[in-house]
Amino acid sequence: MTETHSTGVRGDSGPEVARLVASRVLDVPDFPKPGVMFKDLMPLFADGDVFREVIDGIVGHHGRDSFDIVVGIEARGFVIAAAIAYATGVGVVPVRKAGKLPRAAYSASYALEYGEATLEVHQDAFTAGHRVLVVDDVLATGGTAEATLDLVERAGGTVAGFTVLMELGFLGGREKLAGRPVHALLTV
Ligand code: AMP
Repeated sequence: MTETHSTGVRGDSGPEVARLVASRVLDVPDFPKPGVMFKDLMPLFADGDVFREVIDGIVGHHGRDSFDIVVGIEARGFVIAAAIAYATGVGVVPVRKAGKLPRAAYSASYALEYGEATLEVHQDAFTAGHRVLVVDDVLATGGTAEATLDLVERAGGTVAGFTVLMELGFLGGREKLAGRPVHALLTV
């Protein structure tokens, strides 16, 4: 990466980890529909050293004693949540797309950057006051995150933090989540 490229790379955990994430993202134009620039983080997941550094960075930012359980948003959030859970000895709660959970669930519908969606969480996912760290790969318009944080609270959890590997700042997701703690390793 050239100096020119690394200038201006920013994120809430500093330029070093921001550059690390940026180095493992592939831009896929017009996926899943024309006009969308898809940020593919599979190369980051596939690189063991980088993945470990990123997970350690997230845990270090929040502090391993600041949360009791991790929520991952379907589907790429599951990968991140499971790694954090294993690294810190806590459990994972999946927030899933509509119709996937087998037992009584809370639902929240919202608008995506590309389409509409409904997310669900089991009604008994948390014990009251559970401190919940929520993770996902990309923050775009913020609808997914807003719905998820709402679901966590409806199910009795307390949001301890929200981390994404990458934030598309120009879509205003952070503003939509005003008042919520947003931690993005890379902001573009
Ligand atoms: P949003 O609700 O608009 O913030 O969208 C965030 C959710 O959609 C996350 O779960 C992302 O995985 C996915 N997503 C939205 N836009 C993109 C994008 N441009 N590249 C990759 N994933 C995206």
